Amino acid sequence: MTRSYEKSKQAYAEAIHLMPGGVSSPVRAFKSVNMDPIFMESGHGAIIKDIDGNEYIDYVLSWGPLILGHTHPEVVQAIADAAAKGSSFGAPSYTENRLAKLVLERLPGMEMIRFVSSGTEATMSALRVARGVTGRDKILKFEGSYHGHGDSLLIKAGSGVATLGLPDSPGVPADVARNTLTVAYNDLEGAKLIFEKYGAELAGVIVEPVAGNMGVVPPQPGFLEGLRALTKEYGALLIFDEVMTGFRVDYSCAQAYFDVTPDITTLGKVIGGGLPVGAYAGKKEIMEQIAPAGPIYQAGTLSGNPLAMTAGYETLSRLDKGSYEYFKKLGDQLEAGFREAATKYNIPHTVNRAGSMIGFFFTNESVIDFATAKTSDLQLFAEYFRLMAEEGIFLPPSQFEGLFISTAHTEEHIAKTVDAFHKVFAQLAR
Ligand code: PLP
Repeated sequence: MTRSYEKSKQAYAEAIHLMPGGVSSPVRAFKSVNMDPIFMESGHGAIIKDIDGNEYIDYVLSWGPLILGHTHPEVVQAIADAAAKGSSFGAPSYTENRLAKLVLERLPGMEMIRFVSSGTEATMSALRVARGVTGRDKILKFEGSYHGHGDSLLIKAGSGVATLGLPDSPGVPADVARNTLTVAYNDLEGAKLIFEKYGAELAGVIVEPVAGNMGVVPPQPGFLEGLRALTKEYGALLIFDEVMTGFRVDYSCAQAYFDVTPDITTLGKVIGGGLPVGAYAGKKEIMEQIAPAGPIYQAGTLSGNPLAMTAGYETLSRLDKGSYEYFKKLGDQLEAGFREAATKYNIPHTVNRAGSMIGFFFTNESVIDFATAKTSDLQLFAEYFRLMAEEGIFLPPSQFEGLFISTAHTEEHIAKTVDAFHKVFAQLAR
């Protein structure tokens, strides 16, 4: 039976006059899948429900943060308790110490942390620190990587920018863009050439240790190690943007998974457990350059917000090494099921994975960078998204985003999803 999205349609018709594109963030508008957005009402565990009452197994998980699934009862209770004590003080609260200790314990290469309210703030601040510490202006980033919407980083970006086909946004000053150099992801030789030419001007390299905003693209062997060596050689800082990979890919983030320690780590998503949090961390000698300990200014009215700190602490403290084995097991089941169904119905496909970050592409080319990610059949993706939603599976509404799994997902959820792959690919094969 075809699902009704009537209430979502009405809500969107109203929203379109209230907010640009009817949404608070572009990918939510479902433009790249040629649909009106679905308005969500509630979520429990791995299941979300829209305002028409349709239920879905959720693989978006608020774009990554909800690693325990929706409304984990103990996390909800802890947030409610924190809210009852005060939603914000504008003075330090012990909730910051608790989360800081937990994050730093799991990131042995990082010694101090500064909390902010979003991943964008974290990456913008990390760049300021890299520039402030080195006294240099240029930054190297990788094409198709998304690091939030700060001016310096909205250059050849992925995520919603890729989906909307706006690699450089109007409003980013040319003078700012000039200082951002880009090469293809995984192109270590390209990075070397940039260093040879601009080494003395480069403040740092910012990289997603697993790219997650052009679909999922893991680093090729030697890529992260090569960036580590180059930045050391030229006195630039290596920034791992772990906003997406942090505590998602591994218990101690992607830096442990790949055994490469950056100078600065940016975090977000999982460390806020679904509330607005970002952070950046590094060695003491770098972090103590930040105000008020040092001269590099960065501040925030709601930074270290006690509700957000509590949500993050309660989320992280419920993850142990076994959680990541569990994600791997479910990821293996999902990947095998996708491959089997796509092969059976002769659907072109490539699967990229890093732990519970999974990227399915509708191409037979191996996807190692943004150019190869773009060989995916976007029309086929749009059909697939719509038909999977009909089967009760909520996927990211863009080819250039990954799927996520939570501790609330079960083998049964995955088996249902694999059944849906079979039904959908049978239709797409015709
Ligand atoms: N960095 C990465 C790797 C991200 O995936 C994102 C968001 O998806 C950001 C930064 C920006 O984070 P936020 O949306 O919280 O500003």
